[in-house]
Amino acid sequence: MHMHRCFFFDMDGVLFDSMPFHAKAWVDTMHAYGFPFTSEDAYRFEGRTGKSVIDDAYMSRYGRHATEDEWQTLYAKKTQCFRSQGEAKAIPGIHDILAFLRSRGVLIFIVTGSGQQSLLNHLNHEFPGIFTSDCMITARDVERGKPDPEPYLKAYAKACTMVGDLTKEQCVVIENAPLGVRSGHAAGFEVYAVNTGPLPDDVLSCEGANHVYRNMYQLLDILHAES
Ligand code: MG
Repeated sequence: MHMHRCFFFDMDGVLFDSMPFHAKAWVDTMHAYGFPFTSEDAYRFEGRTGKSVIDDAYMSRYGRHATEDEWQTLYAKKTQCFRSQGEAKAIPGIHDILAFLRSRGVLIFIVTGSGQQSLLNHLNHEFPGIFTSDCMITARDVERGKPDPEPYLKAYAKACTMVGDLTKEQCVVIENAPLGVRSGHAAGFEVYAVNTGPLPDDVLSCEGANHVYRNMYQLLDILHAES
């Protein structure tokens, strides 16, 4: 076992317990526009951009893509619905993990499909001094987004400019969602999944997670053992 030198953290469902809010926002918005959508759909699609989720709904129902106007209107409604629920709390145990990694001097990145300014500001409030804008890949930095490997590859390229001779084996992805796991695995990294949501564990292992943990405390024990 070895201590990784660089950690790529997903945000929703890993740093923040925000997925229940996202799920409710998606279900309410889709239903308001007459599209079938369940809370489970929200968890299965987690990590994809809002645009692609909306586009799929139009494709299934009308056999065509959503227009720019249509997807932007729906996404604005979903964002409003998400925000109206208040600020998500930190996932239990994540503060301990970040403090431990910080004490070890490893690189800590955020790699998220979210581009919402409110949530990014929330990061600095909840985890002061941990994340910097240099160590962040958001929806604004990518063209394709998860489950494509692009976000994690971009994060790695950034990390390599900060730490010389950083190999992929020295990096690890921390994810909670099936499509996020697929993205990290396809990018060529070890993936530690923490199952903080309602889907069964094997959904995460099937996508390529090297390990699936029940919660952050279990992951912290592993990190201690590796150091
Ligand atoms: Mg997530």
